Amino acid sequence: MIGGSAIRGSRIGAGPIGEADRGDAAPRRYVSYFCANGHETRPAFAAEAEIPAEWDCPRCGLPANTDELNPPAPPRTAVYKTHLAYVKERRSDAEAREILAEALQSLRARRAAGEVIY
Ligand SMILES: [Zn+2]
Repeated sequence: MIGGSAIRGSRIGAGPIGEADRGDAAPRRYVSYFCANGHETRPAFAAEAEIPAEWDCPRCGLPANTDELNPPAPPRTAVYKTHLAYVKERRSDAEAREILAEALQSLRARRAAGEVIY
């Protein structure tokens, strides 16, 4: 005879569903993002949230994505250069000085002509 002991231990309705009430059990997932400088950041997202394709690196501000081997290229606007720096990249220092001298000359000429220069 089996008796009433067969259903002992079967606690229907008392499963893990009740644990969501504790708050910290909200499902999250961590996603690794990599920037062009090799930084890794792992923001946490709600499990049901849509994972963004890119994430700003909190350390250097460059865009990062989830592909460690192919991080997004730094945007041009992230690198602040003066016009002269760009000129120097393309030309020798001597040429740059020449160009600068020309620019100053034309600036002085415009100023001498009464033009307002900001
Ligand atoms: Zn970075």
